[in-house]
Amino acid sequence: MKVLKFGGTSVGSVQSILTLLNIVKSEAEGNEKPVVVLSAMSGVTNLLASMAEAAAAGEGFSEQLNELEKRHFDTVKALLEVQRQNPVFTKLKLYFNELEDLLQGVYSLRELTPRTRDMVLSFGERCSTLMISKIAEQHWQQVCFLDASEVIKTDDNFGNARVQTDLTDRLIRSYYDEKKDYTIFVTGFIASNMQGRTTTLGRGGSDYTAAILGSALNASEIQIWTDVNGMMTADPRMVTKAFALPELSYTEAMELSFFGAKVIYPPTMIPAFLKKIPIVIKNTFDTEFAGTYIRHDCANSNLPIKGISSINDISIINLQGSGMVGKSGFSGRLFSLLAREQINVILITQSSSEHSITFAVNPHDALKAKAIIELEFELELHAQKIDYPEIESDLSILAIVGENMKHSPGISGKLFHALGRNGINVRAIAQGSSEYNISVIISKPDLAKALNAVHDSFFTELKKTLNVFCLGTGNIGSTLFRQLLQHRDFLQKSNGIQVNIAGISNSRKMVFNDGGISLESWREQLDESSQTANLAEFVSVMKEMNMPNCVFIDNTASPKPIDFYEEVLRSNISIVTCNKIGNSGTFAQYKTFRDTARRHGVDFYYETNVGAGLPIVRTLKDLMMSGDRVQRIEAILSGTISFIFNNFKGDASFHDVVKLAQEKGFTEPDPRDDLRGTDFMRKMLILARDAGYEFEPEDVKIENMLPQPCLDASTVEEFYRQLKLNEAHFANLKNQAESQGKVLRYIGKLEEGKASIALEMVDENHPFYMLSGSDNIISFTTDRYKDRPMVVKGPGAGAEVTAAGVFADLVNVGAH
Ligand code: ADP
Ligand code: ASP
Ligand code: MG
Repeated sequence: MKVLKFGGTSVGSVQSILTLLNIVKSEAEGNEKPVVVLSAMSGVTNLLASMAEAAAAGEGFSEQLNELEKRHFDTVKALLEVQRQNPVFTKLKLYFNELEDLLQGVYSLRELTPRTRDMVLSFGERCSTLMISKIAEQHWQQVCFLDASEVIKTDDNFGNARVQTDLTDRLIRSYYDEKKDYTIFVTGFIASNMQGRTTTLGRGGSDYTAAILGSALNASEIQIWTDVNGMMTADPRMVTKAFALPELSYTEAMELSFFGAKVIYPPTMIPAFLKKIPIVIKNTFDTEFAGTYIRHDCANSNLPIKGISSINDISIINLQGSGMVGKSGFSGRLFSLLAREQINVILITQSSSEHSITFAVNPHDALKAKAIIELEFELELHAQKIDYPEIESDLSILAIVGENMKHSPGISGKLFHALGRNGINVRAIAQGSSEYNISVIISKPDLAKALNAVHDSFFTELKKTLNVFCLGTGNIGSTLFRQLLQHRDFLQKSNGIQVNIAGISNSRKMVFNDGGISLESWREQLDESSQTANLAEFVSVMKEMNMPNCVFIDNTASPKPIDFYEEVLRSNISIVTCNKIGNSGTFAQYKTFRDTARRHGVDFYYETNVGAGLPIVRTLKDLMMSGDRVQRIEAILSGTISFIFNNFKGDASFHDVVKLAQEKGFTEPDPRDDLRGTDFMRKMLILARDAGYEFEPEDVKIENMLPQPCLDASTVEEFYRQLKLNEAHFANLKNQAESQGKVLRYIGKLEEGKASIALEMVDENHPFYMLSGSDNIISFTTDRYKDRPMVVKGPGAGAEVTAAGVFADLVNVGAH
């Protein structure tokens, strides 16, 4: 025999009731009739509670009462043949009249006792169950209705009554013995005390009703039908990537639900566990889906944890003082006091010095708990042996749960890494000695971010989402978006990374979307945005959005974003930048960025600052990290200058080659911006710093290659004229080189603690002799690469390769 329980949404609409009837009917056609437990229609219990509160406050409730009646009557009309409707209306009407009398009483007395409240709430289940049992009768025979208060007996703890198991089991069995051949529809949630007064089993308690019946009748299975695909790895309303778990042990289900997985009411597991009856959670709205099995002989799973739950709103109370140290009875006294006053303690942590105890309670209980503690420990407080208890509110609990945690070290490390990297401060930690659960207390505004970040880090078979905020939509920015779009599937498949562009700004407009800006239509969305660009606001919105695994990408060449880098890193947001200005300012600034990133456990990547997409920064970093030492760096890191000297040979004139470079788009509008070597200097400076030198910009000596009149020229035209006039100077250099079988190269050097950039003549034995087009080249001579230096060579400029470098940095952020 099976017990089938249907929750609020499953009895909440005409369509879902039809599905429910199909499910029950096919079960009823088997050998043994099922027992069916029903909740109130969705929202009804809340509505009843607010009516009772309104009445107690002297406010009207008739509108809500009418709404309630109408909802049930409409359902009857939609689902029952006309000739069968009247008797049902009459029965429902009796309930509604009783309810109205009750509320009227509350209204007159302006008092709502827990006992009356339970009575009011009980009408939700009574109405829905009676109504649906009558509808079922139309579809098959031998259906009966049972008000659970006739068979489930409890103590007097209204609102959260405790079941008297022996008596209850007997009553259930004797009822069932008589009605074995019927499909019994039973009200969930409600029961009665020894005097026959209605009690309730706690919010969500219909699941428990099903387990009580299942246990008393030794059911073969307890099915919980709800509106999700079973117990999921996290609350699907908070974590979109949550997925249904095929199997759980009773303990795991208990821990997950105790820490907030509302899909099943925690006490439900106890009777089922004692009798080893499997519980199956299934979806009324997707009946084919297998759902979740909670059972005794649950197969081993390879998931490190089963799920993450949370309790959104809790308060903690801190107690500390020397009077607690070594006092064995102290915590006993404290917690029995709280138990006596019916204050539920959700979590406890105690420091090993025994100097302080922290415990979490429902916010409603916090003030009361503080007051009774102050009363109980009056003497100790007076003698200053303990401090006055302190309440902290606006907190949440996040718990990771799973039996496998016991056998795998590193689980808590992973949890704290995910929280730390996202800047989530942990206020208190508790790990049950069973090792089934680790709970942390964090601030409430961080909860959604924490849940998603922790989910991403444990369920790695899913895609990790990087939430990206991009500055700059010029050549590099727009190329990056195109590349991200092109490689979206590949990125997901081979790197397990999903990139969600949550914000974009250029110098005119900005746009945000936490669900992701489409890579196909980002430009239109940005153009249509009503938000004018404002860097400070861009950063502050990004911080407020408080998203997990956040990355800030600077694809500009402007000095303005640099002012915000430190703030961004401090907010635990990683930075990827192709903007060189930040790293080539003062050494103090360069150091601040690295230190801040390290302190906050985030990344600061700038591979494209030197040689665009070529692996130069990373290569140097790897060498340094593995204990190698740089002896010498030689490099040509300006594509423009590289192009010019590669073509300045034979009969070519310097003037014409520069002109050609400009025509090909290799130079800045004023070619002197390249030829002066400032950009090259920045790259050499960054390399020198990465190699361990505390250099300031002026420490890189630039040997000027242009004669003074060319530098002094006031316009670009004048500059070209001066180039022509000084042609002899360049021809001379070239001839000199050629006569010795050499070529001219503008080379940056780092050697013996000195950095310089100068025009040199190199022969064919030099690795820079053969260089084509606008390629960059760099050679590292190190303690390990001493005899033959390590050389990196290739195209070192252009939107395509630079964007690819930014892309690679982004993927590296995702790899953590
Ligand atoms: P019912 O009315 O059927 O009893 P509930 O509303 O009590 O349904 O419980 C189902 C809801 O529990 C889901 O809609 C979901 O939003 C929420 N929930 C919270 N945590 C989880 C979880 N880990 N797995 C599944 N659902 C969860
Ligand atoms: N209707 C009750 C509630 O909303 C019981 C239940 O649905 O399980 O809490
Ligand atoms: Mg429920």
